[in-house]
Order: sequence, then structure tokens, then C-alpha cells
Amino acid sequence: MRRKLAAGNWKMNGSMSAMSEVDGLVKAHPDPSVDILLCPPATLIWSMASMRGEHPMAVGAQDCHAAVSGAHTGDISAPMLREAGASHVIVGHSERRADHRETSEEVLTKAEAAHAAGLVAIVCLGETLEEREAGRTLEVVGAQLAASVPASATGTDTVIAYEPVWAIGTGKVATTDEIAEVHAFLRAELRRSHPSSAAEIRLLYGGSVKASNAAEIFAVPDVDGALVGGASLTAEQFSPIIRAL
Ligand code: 13P
Repeated sequence: MRRKLAAGNWKMNGSMSAMSEVDGLVKAHPDPSVDILLCPPATLIWSMASMRGEHPMAVGAQDCHAAVSGAHTGDISAPMLREAGASHVIVGHSERRADHRETSEEVLTKAEAAHAAGLVAIVCLGETLEEREAGRTLEVVGAQLAASVPASATGTDTVIAYEPVWAIGTGKVATTDEIAEVHAFLRAELRRSHPSSAAEIRLLYGGSVKASNAAEIFAVPDVDGALVGGASLTAEQFSPIIRAL
């Protein structure tokens, strides 16, 4: 049985003053029946992990380097994130694939580094608008899945997030039919590539999820939760999404 996951990606937003949002979330969900995860900028991981105290809410990072240490100015390794209080790390977000030209092969090495450090890897996939309009959605996400997800991935160490690039931060959410098609495809591909763990690996949808569309999205088969950007920045907006799960 896959436990639902409400994950928030703060991207390059938030500061110490935003820690009150963590307090708000913890108080609003004292005994959550779903998994809650917030991924703030790396500078806030330690504070957020301290702030949540004994609450089961998890804290994650937004990227890691594939190496454990070394001459990589500006990068942060998976063991460092773990030491700072992270239990999860997002890898292969489309903004990193675009801004930093990360390839699926690099994303794979990052996911492997995350696993080696004991972190859950949230591997992101998604097609651009151009690829969707060319009818290449399944081909693109299928190739990303095959190349970015470690062969050893299990339901405990890996989560997959389908985030159509054209739906991120645009207010343009994919239709439930579009989400259903891709999630069913990803589950079927996992059954072939990861037969023993396919039923346990959670598939999240991401892209303009908010309180008003969350319930409808969560009712789609094979949607095990959401990776939420903008609407995860405040407890007021994120809380109803958690409740909708
Ligand atoms: P928005 O929810 O702001 O569209 O962002 C989605 C996302 O990229 C989460 O990783």
C-alpha cells in the first residue's frame, strides 16, 4: 500500500522569517495520515529540521552533487544534506535540467549518490510544451524514466514526480486525463524495469497544484501525491492540499 505524499518544493524562496510557516503546518497537522515533506533552499534545511521538532514532517533538499566531497565549488553533497537534517532530495527537476543543463545520466548519478547517503531520491520527469504538441510526451518521459532512475530503486528510497514543464508555475494544470495517461504509462514502464518494486514506488504529480484542484488530481488512479511549488510556501495554502490527500 503506497502512503500518500504531500511534498513542497520551495525552490529559491523563503528565509528564516518563513520558519513560522513550518510551525503553522506542524500545528495544523499534529498527527498526519499522509507523509508531509518540505524542500527549502539548502540554507534553511537545518533550521527547518530543528523547527519541526518531533513532528513526522520530513525535510528535503532540492539537488545534490553526485560526489561525496571534493573540488566542486558551490555544490553540496548528499551526505552533507543528510547531516544538515534532510531525509529526501529532489533530483532532475526541470528547472535544473534547463538552468544547469542536467542530463538524465547526471540525474541518475545524483539519485545513486542520494541512495548511498541514505536519502530518498525524488526523481523528476516531464515534457515541454513543444514535446507534448509534437505527440512525444510518453516517449520523452519514458526515456527520462529509463535513464534517470537507478536499477536498484525501491518504494522506500525512490519517489517519481511527473511534472509537465508547461504546467510549472504557469497556473496551467494538466487535465486529469493527461495526468492519468502519463501516470498509467509510468507505472507500466516501472513494472517492466523494476518488477519487484513497481507497485511500491510512489508517483507524484506536480505543476500548478493548489487547494482548488488538489482533490480532483488526487482522485486520478496512480497519483500518490503531489510535488507543489508556489502553493507550498505558506501553511495557509499548503494545508488544504495536505487535507485533500
Ligand atoms: P508550481 O506548483 O509552482 O507550479 O511548481 C511545481 C514544481 O515545479 C514543483 O517542483
